[in-house]
Amino acid sequence: MTKAISYAAHDPKKPLAPFSFERRDVGAGDVAIEILYCGVCHSDLHQARDEWGNSTFPLVPGHEIVGRVTQVGNAVTKFKVGDLAGVGCMVDACGTCPDCNQGLEQYCNHTVFTYNSLDKHTGNPTYGGYSNLIVVDQRFTLKIPENLELAAVAPLLCAGITTYSPLRHWKIGKGHKVGVVGLGGLGHMAIKFSHAFGAHTVLFTTSPGKAEDARRLGADEVVISKNPEELQAHLQSFDFILNTVAAPHNLDQFMPLLKRDGTMCLVGVPDSPHPSPSIANLIFKRRSLAGSLIGGIRETQEMLDFCAEHNITSDIELIPIQEINRAFERMLRSDVKYRFVIDIASLKQAA
Ligand SMILES: [Zn+2]
Ligand SMILES: [Zn+2]
Repeated sequence: MTKAISYAAHDPKKPLAPFSFERRDVGAGDVAIEILYCGVCHSDLHQARDEWGNSTFPLVPGHEIVGRVTQVGNAVTKFKVGDLAGVGCMVDACGTCPDCNQGLEQYCNHTVFTYNSLDKHTGNPTYGGYSNLIVVDQRFTLKIPENLELAAVAPLLCAGITTYSPLRHWKIGKGHKVGVVGLGGLGHMAIKFSHAFGAHTVLFTTSPGKAEDARRLGADEVVISKNPEELQAHLQSFDFILNTVAAPHNLDQFMPLLKRDGTMCLVGVPDSPHPSPSIANLIFKRRSLAGSLIGGIRETQEMLDFCAEHNITSDIELIPIQEINRAFERMLRSDVKYRFVIDIASLKQAA
């Protein structure tokens, strides 16, 4: 066992504070990673505050992890000491079910998440990336390209794959018109990917102030969704809408904008439900309302390789870990462009 230092939520009502714990020994198939950067995801905040009702404490958040391999088990073939490596939302799964067999481990019924899950090796809670070290099975460890700014790669492990996967699944490309609802951590990545895939990309936002930035990120058009006449101009014109908003809102604003057979896919997780969509909007044009969860390991690697080739990273604000509680508050006000990333070097001073 190796001692790790971290920041943890000790109680849903209290700010995150320093916490020490033990990482498991490096097994034959494991790699140990010195964590350099970890992105701050909205789900970190939800779980630190037990807003989904399933948190166990102390809870060390963080599932957008990048760092360098410091040790490998004797069966490890994918990595050697000194390689860059990444860990996203999952660290294990059953490995035998139809989902796992198809490389869709995120849909396995026995996925072990990077934190707030139980480690199959030790039976102890899994602890995430707001820490200096992690030990992960090589099968759930990603190869990180050397040519990108490392801190800005971290959010690709959750925000990146969460938006890349549905755009790939619905085969978005040239000739498609794609809507992105919301310009936050997920939305800004959705615009970058949709644009890179060659689709005509339209951002829906409630904030007129975000229009210029959306165009810089790759949006062809910006629609202020508070203005019904602006929405009306796009009636029945979209092939696909990726809705990244995590607050409950009226989905029927967007459903009529889809063409016949169009799909709106939800990737944000609100803590109370959206009002139920109109059935007429679905059946009259055979439209679909769908959901999507992160992406499998194989697809996450594909996404990272695509980003390396097309020079895509997240727009980030780098913070020391001592700023994490303030960052949570700013995230709640959408006051970040577009992802906080923790510089884990700052943890040494904290512990
Ligand atoms: Zn996340
Ligand atoms: Zn499985």
